[in-house]
Amino acid sequence: MPKFRPRKTKQGKHAAIPRIQGRPARPSPKLVRNSRQVAAEIGEIVRKRAEAEAAIAEARKSHERLREAIEILPQGIVFLDADGRYILWNKKYAEIYSRSSDLFEPGARLADTIRIGVERGDYPEAIGREEEWIAERLTRLYQPGERHEQTLADGRVILIEERLTEDGGVIGLRVDITELKEREASFRLLFDSNPVPMIVCALDGERILGVNDAAVEHYGYSRAEFEKLTIRGLQAFDTELPWTGDRSSDEQAAHTWKHVRADGSLIDLAIYFRQLVYGDQPAVLLALMDITERKRAEARLAFMAQHDGLTGLPNRSLLRQQMDDMLLHTRRSSEKLAVLVLGLDNFKIVNDTLGHGVGDKLLRGVAKRLRSTLREEDAVARLNSDEFAILQSGVVRPEDAVLLAKRLLEAIADPYLLDGHSVVIGASIGIAMSPGDGDESEKLLKSADMALSRAKTDFRGTFSFFEAEMDARAQSRRKIEIDLRDAIQNNRLQPYYQPLVDLSTGRITGFEALVRWPHAERGMVSPGEFIPVAEETGLINPLGALMLRRACADAAQWPDDVRVAVNLSPLQFRVGNLLAQVMDALKQSGLPARRLELEITETLLLEKSSQVLATLHALRALGVRISMDDFGTGYSSLSYLRSFPFDKIKIDQSFVRDLGSNRDAQAIVRSIISLGKGLGVTITAEGVESEAELSCLRTEGCHEGQGFLFSRARPNAEIVALLSAQRGVAAAIEAA
Ligand code: C2E
Ligand code: MG
Ligand code: MG
Repeated sequence: MPKFRPRKTKQGKHAAIPRIQGRPARPSPKLVRNSRQVAAEIGEIVRKRAEAEAAIAEARKSHERLREAIEILPQGIVFLDADGRYILWNKKYAEIYSRSSDLFEPGARLADTIRIGVERGDYPEAIGREEEWIAERLTRLYQPGERHEQTLADGRVILIEERLTEDGGVIGLRVDITELKEREASFRLLFDSNPVPMIVCALDGERILGVNDAAVEHYGYSRAEFEKLTIRGLQAFDTELPWTGDRSSDEQAAHTWKHVRADGSLIDLAIYFRQLVYGDQPAVLLALMDITERKRAEARLAFMAQHDGLTGLPNRSLLRQQMDDMLLHTRRSSEKLAVLVLGLDNFKIVNDTLGHGVGDKLLRGVAKRLRSTLREEDAVARLNSDEFAILQSGVVRPEDAVLLAKRLLEAIADPYLLDGHSVVIGASIGIAMSPGDGDESEKLLKSADMALSRAKTDFRGTFSFFEAEMDARAQSRRKIEIDLRDAIQNNRLQPYYQPLVDLSTGRITGFEALVRWPHAERGMVSPGEFIPVAEETGLINPLGALMLRRACADAAQWPDDVRVAVNLSPLQFRVGNLLAQVMDALKQSGLPARRLELEITETLLLEKSSQVLATLHALRALGVRISMDDFGTGYSSLSYLRSFPFDKIKIDQSFVRDLGSNRDAQAIVRSIISLGKGLGVTITAEGVESEAELSCLRTEGCHEGQGFLFSRARPNAEIVALLSAQRGVAAAIEAA
């Protein structure tokens, strides 16, 4: 359009005003009036034109702005007029349709570009149904808000969204969603063919939107059934959906669920979830790992860790937990908790005589009877091989515990028929009650244990309540343990030696080494007091090693025909290095093995352990002599003589003590002596205190004697003097 630009005359009048040639005529009033009007009209026109021009400039500016604005947009954008002709489009739009962009020009019709594009094969979806496709495409163009996807020849996928404008034109948006589509496809692939069951559900868990094959197989529901289900409907228990709560909670962390399958079976699942948009709606993708087996294995392990394998009863650790819970309850009420520790009497004998198979069956039988005697709210556990603990709740008076103890003892006492044997076993019970005997589980158990020890030693076969004095005894034992450990470490224990005398010649054949503990506060402490403590605490091993070393070293200084006897505790055989200890003591001292005698007690042989016998044989093979100490006090003394070829039998002092007065004792001593002779074993009588006893022993032909009559145990320093005086002793015997 040509630009209109008014020219100005010198007079400042507009050039458009007609000029009168020559001398100006004097204008008529009408003319004057007309020309004024014309001038005004012209002015008006000029003004309007200027306005229009400004408006056009303004429109052009907004057009430019609009163009700039649409260029910034990441989407392709196109404006069409009411006839479907291009008005405006951005670069992105041209880029998306790069194959057809040569066809775009203002005024060109979209329908035509589409048709040409179809003919050129720009739209693979149209191939084979070109007319139909074009018709569909054009109908969509005028359906406001309609979104659809379009695939281009190079495989890109374009999302098309079109909207009608007020003047009947169209604004079209184009988004390249190729990548999104690819991601969606890989998601589908991962989802559908994943071996892990997966479910997509609505955010509220109310609807299941999709499941993969693995889920269908795993749950046993068909896809159609799944569609009718909800996540909550799958849960065995009402569980909160972890994504509905605090969103900051870690999405990757595994939550565990219990689900019900179509066949009603329960499965444990570890679930992993991720929020996503599924179709158009916010949803959650769940990956469900079946951990039923693992859970089962864990549960089995947990059970095994807290139960006794043989009886299936809770073990000590679970008992403690139960006790803590029950104690917590009693603290809030006036009720008490009674703890009964039940120990079987002589269970070892059953094991030894009938075998471990029967022993195990007996324990199971006992466990079963205990269980069935108790109420649901009581608890029972196996503490160790032949001890059980019972927790009785709701106890008001001690009599309540007494009643239960009696019922338990009765229940156990009936014979058990095991492998054709009728087995009878007794039990003793120690009782402690909260809060008096302890207000925490450890203390209560200990108290009940002490009461049981008391019941076992004093009243076997019945029950005993804990008393504070028992605790005092236990305290003093603890003090002994501490002091003894210190004494061993500082080498304060020493051997005293008591002579063994040949009864026919009166000569000292050897000495028994007896441990002595000079205690700073208590004077000389007797081994009867601390050997049991040493055995309980394992201190017996360093103590035994110390005695072996010292006794061998001392004896090496004595005449060559004098032996030394050292006492061994059964516990020293369990540690396993006894043989090495003995060899070491002999080697260090230079004492010949034949001069060392080891005294063992019958309890060592109670276990019939092949390891013990092997050690004994090995010791004997060194040349060391083995004596059976305290003979006659054990459970089946005679049978032990068969299990090992002893060199010496020491008759326990209790039989010697009664020699003068008791004829039975005499008969027993006589038969032991003749037994020893038959076996070719030296017989020694312990605890010879009187001349009467001595003469009786000599009459019976006993080989050796040991006792206060000859000498008490003495320190090594006095032994040499004693040995030189031995002739005197021999003479005394000869004179007798
Ligand atoms: P045992 O081996 O039977 O030792 C004999 C005990 O009888 C010694 O008691 C001894 O002093 C005592 N005795 C000896 N003659 C008479 C007597 O005429 N009348 C009386 N009433 N008693 C007499 P002791 O020294 O108190 O030892 C007690 C027990 O302690 C020993 O009995 C032994 O079993 C154990 N023992 C001592 N020393 C050791 C040791 O070094 N190791 C081990 N494992 N046990 C030891
Ligand atoms: Mg002894
Ligand atoms: Mg003895």
